[in-house]
Amino acid sequence: MQPFEYTANPGRVVFGSGSIKKLPDEIKRLNKSKPLLLSTPQQEEQVRALEPILKDASITPAGLFSEATMHTPTHITDKALAYTKECGADCVVSFGGGSTIGLGKAISIQTGLEHVCIPTTYAGSEMTPILGETAEGKKTTRSDPKILPGTVIYDVDFTMTLPEALSATSGVNAIAHAVEALYARANNPIMTLFALEGTKALAEALPIIVNHPHDTDARSKAQYGAWLCAMCLGSVGMALHHKLCHTLGGSFNLPHAETHTIVLPHAIAYNAPKIPEVMKQLAGLLPGSDGDAIKGLNVLLAKLKVKRGLQEFGMKEEDVDKAAEIAVSNPYWNPREIEKGPLRETIRRCWAGEDAKADL
Ligand code: NAD
Repeated sequence: MQPFEYTANPGRVVFGSGSIKKLPDEIKRLNKSKPLLLSTPQQEEQVRALEPILKDASITPAGLFSEATMHTPTHITDKALAYTKECGADCVVSFGGGSTIGLGKAISIQTGLEHVCIPTTYAGSEMTPILGETAEGKKTTRSDPKILPGTVIYDVDFTMTLPEALSATSGVNAIAHAVEALYARANNPIMTLFALEGTKALAEALPIIVNHPHDTDARSKAQYGAWLCAMCLGSVGMALHHKLCHTLGGSFNLPHAETHTIVLPHAIAYNAPKIPEVMKQLAGLLPGSDGDAIKGLNVLLAKLKVKRGLQEFGMKEEDVDKAAEIAVSNPYWNPREIEKGPLRETIRRCWAGEDAKADL
């Protein structure tokens, strides 16, 4: 066996349908009693379902801040921080996807308050010590063990309302974390176990969810898969796929999960010549792959009925060159050297919505 290093991220997970009822106990475990609830405006009504559960256990929320938004803009964080102080909260409970969890992380790192997460998408921020923030249109990312939320409640019941299209793209976003962990520089056999199991669970569950969004077993399996994939994201460094999505999302204001979904087969196709073992492992997990991981991903995306071209989200053809410039100007580790010509063609294919091919 190859030598390796493995650091486990600390964190407590409570998993299962109805596990939200354990929220009061989790808050008491932390010796806290005045949680600030966080959500997006779209999920304000849903997060209010927590209030009676807390009140039954004699916990009165200090307040509700429902202005979380994509990319954690610092002016929203500042407003939330002022409210946190004003309402006297002694912990934060973020309820939602990566946007709300990002706000919870930003408050927690600035105030030292404990952070309990209730994820309702498959994006995986709850398992990472990473925080991306936007100020004056520029997104910066930092990593600090103190950013990692201490408690995560995965209650499938709150994912039942996630629209089919977002379920599909959010699930592929999770698969992307696992795939890049398989060939990460800091990969280790433990992460490989998580990555393979997480990808398998999502590849099986997502096509069912798209056709039967109320299938609790499929939703539960997807959430389990998303958790495992999120641990990969939180533990080992990511490469071309995540860097490309970061560049594209940040520079051209493209939606997060949808961009990950479009880019994934193309990023894997770019790296394919340098990761033959990973391609075999992946092919074995993807139904309909016939031994070819790229075909397996293309088949999965067709089943999920997702949009395949960045142009469908407003990216212009002339932005392809700009994106390639940015992607090569910012050096990072990747199993295959970043070569401008093939990378530009990779981005062009993502823009056009073509099927991925490992011919570059
Ligand atoms: P999101 O949190 O932006 O949610 C998208 C929309 O779906 C929102 O309107 C939200 O209210 C709604 N929604 C979420 N769950 C729902 C549900 N169950 N039912 C109905 N509506 C629901 O989307 P996301 O993809 O989870 O997160 C994207 C953001 O998270 C990006 O800013 C990204 O950079 C960040 N992110 C960070 C990390 C990290 O490790 N720091 C990891 C993944 C994502």
